[in-house]
Amino acid sequence: MKTPGPFQNFRSQLGEAQFPAMFGHSGAQLMATLYQIEQSQWWSPGDIRQAQASQLLALVQHARQSTPYYDKKFTDLPEWDNPDALLEAWDKIPLLTRSDISAADSALYSRAPLPLHGRQREISTSGSTGKPMHTLSNELVNHFYRAIACREIMWSQRDMTRKLCAIRPDRHKTLEGVERESWGRPMSLLYDTGPSALLYSTAPISYQVDWLLEHQPSYLLSMPSNFQGLVEEFDRRGAELDSLEQLISFAETLSPERRRLLTDFFGVPVKDLYSSVEAGYIAVQCPEHDHLHVQSEAILVEVLDSQGVACEPGEIGRVVLTPLHNFSAPLIRYVNGDYVEVGKPCSCGRGLPVITRVMGRERNLLTLPDGSRNWPYLAIGHWEEIAPIQQAQVVQKSVETLEIRLVAERQLTPEEQSALENFVTEQLRQSFQYEISYHQKLTRGRNLKFEDFISEIN
Ligand SMILES: [Zn+2]
Repeated sequence: MKTPGPFQNFRSQLGEAQFPAMFGHSGAQLMATLYQIEQSQWWSPGDIRQAQASQLLALVQHARQSTPYYDKKFTDLPEWDNPDALLEAWDKIPLLTRSDISAADSALYSRAPLPLHGRQREISTSGSTGKPMHTLSNELVNHFYRAIACREIMWSQRDMTRKLCAIRPDRHKTLEGVERESWGRPMSLLYDTGPSALLYSTAPISYQVDWLLEHQPSYLLSMPSNFQGLVEEFDRRGAELDSLEQLISFAETLSPERRRLLTDFFGVPVKDLYSSVEAGYIAVQCPEHDHLHVQSEAILVEVLDSQGVACEPGEIGRVVLTPLHNFSAPLIRYVNGDYVEVGKPCSCGRGLPVITRVMGRERNLLTLPDGSRNWPYLAIGHWEEIAPIQQAQVVQKSVETLEIRLVAERQLTPEEQSALENFVTEQLRQSFQYEISYHQKLTRGRNLKFEDFISEIN
C-alpha cells in the first residue's frame, strides 16, 4: 500500500464531514496558503520574481508612508507605482545594516500598523552575529512562518503519527523536559499528530542522552554543535537510538563534514534549515538534495558580492534579506551578517533559488566545573537592555573562567558589569569568573562563520 502523502489523513474539525476535511479558522487559512505555495514552488524563477515584486511594492510603499526611518532614507528615490519599475530600481535601494537598525531603534516601526495583520509583539535577538537587536513581529508574519514550517515537514516526508523530540532554547527553560500529546501548532491545526517532547538545551549532554533513550523519538531537532555533543556521549556509552529516522538541524551552520558524521553515526538523514528570529525561514533543504531552497513566498534573498552585484552560482556573497510580510517593522534589504554560496537551479524542478552552503553561526559547547557539558544559551539579544553593548562574544578560557568580549559605546560601569555578569550566570545556570575585554569589532573567523561562543578547553 502507498504511504499517505501530506495532503491526506487530515483531521477534520467538523463531525461527520471527514472527506474532504473541514478546518477551523486558523487551519483553513493555513491550508489556503499551503495550497498556493504547493503550486508556486514549481513556477519559473521569473514568475516567482514577478509575484514577489507586487508584494515588495506594497511593502515599500507602506514603509515609506508610515515609518520615519524609510521616509527619510528614501527621500531621493522615485515614488514607484508599479512592480516592474520597483524591480528595475531595486539595487538602488540602500542596504540596511545591523548598526542602522540599532541607531534607528523605533524609527523603523510603522506608525500605521495594519490591524488585520494581527497583534504586534517585540522580539529581541542577536541573530548569528552577536549583535543585539529589537524588532516587531505580528500574527500575519507568524501565519507565513507556520506555512513554511508545514512545508518543511512535508518536504522532509515525516510521518506525523510518530514521536518528535526537540532539544533547543525555549521559553519553558525546563531542564527536565516537557511532554505534549501532539506536535503542537501548526501541524495540530491540520492533523492528528503523534506526541512530542521538548528539552531545554542547557540540560547537560549526559542528561540529554538519558532523556532521549527514555523517549525514543523518530525525529530529533537540535543545533549541530549539540548533535556533536550527543554523538560523543552516545559513542562513549556504546548506546544507540533505535527509533531514530531523521535529524533536523537548525540555528547554526551545518558543515558537510558534520552532516556526514551525524549520518554515519546515527544512520539516518539530516534535514537542514536556515532561519532567524528576525526574518523567519530563509531557506529549507530540498526534498531530493542536501542543498537548500530559498523560501521565496515569504522572503526575498539577495546574495551580493563586495561590489553589491548579485553572485553567480558557485560564488559566495553576503546575505541581504527582505521579509515580504512584516509591515509592522519592515526590513528592506537587511544585511544579516551571514555569507552563503549560491547554487545552480535545482534538478528537482522547483523554481525556488538554491543555496549550497550557509556560513552563519558556529559555536562550541560549554564545559562546567564538574566536567559535564551543555549548549550555552547566552540571550545576547537582551544585553543591550543592560548596557550600551553593540556586539558580544563569549570565550571559555578554563572550566572556571569566561572571557566576555564586547564592542560597546563605552566601558561598562561597575553596576552594569555586575548586572551583565549576573544575567549571564542566570542564563548559564552556573557562576563563572568573568573577564570583560573591549574590542573595536569582533570579526568572523575561518570560513566566514561567526562564533558567538568559543571554548578553548581541549
Ligand atoms: Zn530542489
